[in-house]
Amino acid sequence: MSSDPATIRREVHRRRTFAIISHPDAGKSTMTEALALHARMISEAGAIHGKAGRKSTVSDWMEMEKARGISVSSTALQFNYRSAAAVTEGSDEINVINLVDTPGHADFSEDTYRVLTAVDAAVMLIDAAKGLEPQTLKLFQVCRHRGIPVITVINKWDRPGRTPLELIDEITERIGLTPTPLYSPVGIAGDFRGLLDRRTGDYIRFTRTAGGATVAPEELLSASDAQATEGDAWTESVEESDLLSEMGQDHDEELFLAGQTSPMIFASAMLNFGVRQLLEALVEFAPPPGPREAVDGTVREVVDPFSAVVFKVQAGMDAAHRDRLAFMRIVSGEFERGMVVTHAQSGKPFATKYAQAVFGRDRSTVDTAYPGDVVGLVNAMTLAPGDTLCVDPTVEFPPIPSFAPEHFSVLRAVSAGKYKQFRKAMDQLVSEGVVQVLRNDLRGDASPVLAAVGPMQFEVVTARMKTEFGVDTSVERLGYSVARRTDPDSADELGRQRGVEVFTRTDGALLALVSDKWRLQYIEKEHPTLTLEPLVAAA
Ligand code: GDP
Repeated sequence: MSSDPATIRREVHRRRTFAIISHPDAGKSTMTEALALHARMISEAGAIHGKAGRKSTVSDWMEMEKARGISVSSTALQFNYRSAAAVTEGSDEINVINLVDTPGHADFSEDTYRVLTAVDAAVMLIDAAKGLEPQTLKLFQVCRHRGIPVITVINKWDRPGRTPLELIDEITERIGLTPTPLYSPVGIAGDFRGLLDRRTGDYIRFTRTAGGATVAPEELLSASDAQATEGDAWTESVEESDLLSEMGQDHDEELFLAGQTSPMIFASAMLNFGVRQLLEALVEFAPPPGPREAVDGTVREVVDPFSAVVFKVQAGMDAAHRDRLAFMRIVSGEFERGMVVTHAQSGKPFATKYAQAVFGRDRSTVDTAYPGDVVGLVNAMTLAPGDTLCVDPTVEFPPIPSFAPEHFSVLRAVSAGKYKQFRKAMDQLVSEGVVQVLRNDLRGDASPVLAAVGPMQFEVVTARMKTEFGVDTSVERLGYSVARRTDPDSADELGRQRGVEVFTRTDGALLALVSDKWRLQYIEKEHPTLTLEPLVAAA
C-alpha cells in the first residue's frame, strides 16, 4: 500500500471539506447545483428544480447522480475546481471540494448536526429578505461550539430584500459574529448588477443567462468604467465598502479561523451570480483537512496511517433490505478500497471491499481517498456514529456529543409479550445513535421517553422496531419542547415545578424537560440558583 507522506500532503493541501448551513428554502439545493456547475462537473443546472413534487435533498442528489454521472451520494458531493489563482499562476493545481449535505426540511435530525463534525468549514446561507432563521441559528451554534469557521453567503440578492448593512448588523448583534464582506454588491437587493471586489477595487459585472442555466458571464471593469456604467449604484457600493473598512470589517484570516469573523459574499444561486466567488473564498480561506485529537490526548496528523470517523449511519427502512450504510470522514492517511481496517470500539476488523458503492465519480476505477473525503461503507452493521476506523497504530477519536433534543415521545410496545425484543431493539437503536433515550423511576423501563432533534427520528425508530425486530410500537408525543442539563442538587426542586420532568439520559446526563421557553424563563427567574444549562445547539 502506498501511503507516501508527500502524496498525502499534496492531496490534503488541495482539499476543502464543508457543509452548507441554512434554513429550508434559503437556496441550499440551488446553491449546491450552482457550485457543481461552476466546478464544471455538469453543464446545465435547473433540471432538478423544474421537477414537480420536490422530494428531499437526498433524493435530489441521487437523481443528480443518475442523470449526470457525477460523484454524488446521498451524503457527500465531490467535485474538482481550478481556482483563479491557479489559472493566473499557470499552475495545474486542481482543488477537490467535498460538500457534505446537512439534511434539513422534514428530515432534520441529529444527523444534521453530526455532519458538522465531519467538515472543516461551513457556509452559512442566508436569504437576503429573511435574514437569520431558526434552523440556521441552531446549526451555527454547533459550528461555534466546534470551532468551525463560517463563510456567510447572502443569497437571493436578485430579489428585493434587506440592505447589506441591515444584514451585517443582524448577524453581529444576534450571534456575535462579525461579517467581513469580501465584496460589496452593486445594485440593491432586487437589482443585482455585480460585485465590487473590496480587495482590488475592481467591478465584476454579471450578465444574466436564461434561467441561470449556465455559468453567468463575468466582466472585469475598472473603478472608473464602473462609475461610468453604473453611476449611483457604484458610488453607493464604494461608500459602503469604505464604511466597512473604517469599522475594521476587512477579512482577517486569523480571526476567521478563530470563528470571530466571517467573510461575506452576496450571491444569487439561481442566476449563478457570486457562486464562483464562493468557490474562490473556500479555496483561499477555508482550512484544508487538519489533525484531530484522540481520546488519549494524542494528535493524529493527516500523514499518519489511515484513520477515519463515522459520522452518519443510515439503515435501510425496507424490510427486504436490511442493510446499513455508514459514512466516514477520513482523518489521516490514504484509504484504499478493500483495505481491512480496525473498528476501534470493538477491536474487530472491518472489511471495506464494498466501499465503492457510494464512493467515487467513476465507480469502477476510483478507489483511493484522502483526509477530508467522505466514503460510504455498506454492510456496516457494527458501526455507529462517532466510531473510529483505523489501521495500526490504533487510535480512538472522541465520541460525537448528543445534541439538544426538542421533541419528546413515549414509546411503548403494543403487545406486552414483545417486551424482551423491545428492550433489545431499544438498546440497539440507542447504541447506533438513532435517538436519545431518557428514563426516570416514575415512568419505568417499559415506556422510555425518546428525545430527538427532529420528529422524523421517531418514525425511523418505529419503522425499524417493526422491520428489524418485529415489534409494533406506539408513540405518544409529550408536551415538552426544551431540555436543559441539570444536576442532582437541583433535580428535586425542579421535579416539583409545574411543566417540568427530570430524566437521566443513557449517557448519564441529568436532563430537565420543560414545557416551553416561557415556563423555563419563569423558573429561572423564580429559582435563580437551580442549574439549567443549555445543551449544544439549543436555540
Ligand atoms: P433549500 O430548501 O434551501 O434547498 O432551497 P432551494 O434551493 O430548494 O430553493 C428554494 C426556492 O428558492 C426555490 O424556489 C428556488 O428556485 C428559489 N431560489 C433559490 N436561490 C435563489 C436565488 O438566488 N434567487 C431567487 N430569486 N430564488 C432562489
